[in-house]
Amino acid sequence: MRIAILLPMLFAGLMISAQEKLPILDMHLHALPATQNGPPPNAICAPPTEMPAHDPATPWAQAFGDWLKNPDCENAIWGPVTDKEVMDQTLELLRKHNIYGMTSGSLLDEYIKNGEDRIIPGLGFSFFNPDLTPEKVREHLSSGTYKVFGEVAIQYNGVSPSDSLFAPYAAIAEELDIPIGIHVGTGPPGAAYLPGVQNYRGRLHSPLVVEELLMRHPKLRIYLMHAGYPMIDDLLAVLWTHPQVYVDVGVICYAIPRKAFHEYLRRIVDAGYGKRVLFGSDQMNWPGTIEVGIEAINTADFLNPNQKRDILYNNAAKFLRLSDEEIARHHGH
Ligand SMILES: [Zn+2]
Repeated sequence: MRIAILLPMLFAGLMISAQEKLPILDMHLHALPATQNGPPPNAICAPPTEMPAHDPATPWAQAFGDWLKNPDCENAIWGPVTDKEVMDQTLELLRKHNIYGMTSGSLLDEYIKNGEDRIIPGLGFSFFNPDLTPEKVREHLSSGTYKVFGEVAIQYNGVSPSDSLFAPYAAIAEELDIPIGIHVGTGPPGAAYLPGVQNYRGRLHSPLVVEELLMRHPKLRIYLMHAGYPMIDDLLAVLWTHPQVYVDVGVICYAIPRKAFHEYLRRIVDAGYGKRVLFGSDQMNWPGTIEVGIEAINTADFLNPNQKRDILYNNAAKFLRLSDEEIARHHGH
């Protein structure tokens, strides 16, 4: 009698824990300081229902800071005050949800040290860092440490990925067969008015900016971080013309109204590109946004369970060419 009762319970328990442990690949994670979005603590409404309406009587940088300090919503995700808390809370969530994260940022070494094998190192890049010459990038990418060349954030320099300035870097990634994750889409709202990134432009949200790059480097494995939001028509044209291109949903899965995110994702999936969408949180200094991002996929009623698994794991495993052993290991086998 006892066994008859216990066994089904045990079995049900095993099924639940196996289900809970289905792995997630977060293709857009960061190892960044608590000050990444201004003096901590600050918060983001995740997701927001309204975007800011600004009176230019005050500088946008100030208004943006106030917006993050005084979130006008019930669902604000606060970031911690210290770098260590940001890291500890992030790693905690990776363990809790069985997440492996493609991670870039200034604190990457610390995350690698403390994150077991959950941190997949990415080499972040922009023209703000003069040390990252083509020679240096070749050295880094040849070292075996980095699995992805990204986040490439040259949109903040106002430089198109197809610009000749970026050509030597793209050539190296293609030659070494390291996938590129490149920021094409949303920076912070009003980015062009924030200090240091005055060359940011809305037109560089268009995925069409990668076309010449792709034609010059046909073997490049590439994904557009932020999926070129909100330029859906340009994105569909690029996905049609360049079948090797993937996208991630970093930041748009929590920092824009949920309805707008679902509508954008639905357009991509309805157009037949559900196998080329990668989950990415773009967690910076608000660890809780990782969970909001996952929830944004799981609550998409236009996706069936297989499509959700594809976005949360399978598509990225294929894009990264993970081995069967590695995939089995992520699944706890
Ligand atoms: Zn980005």
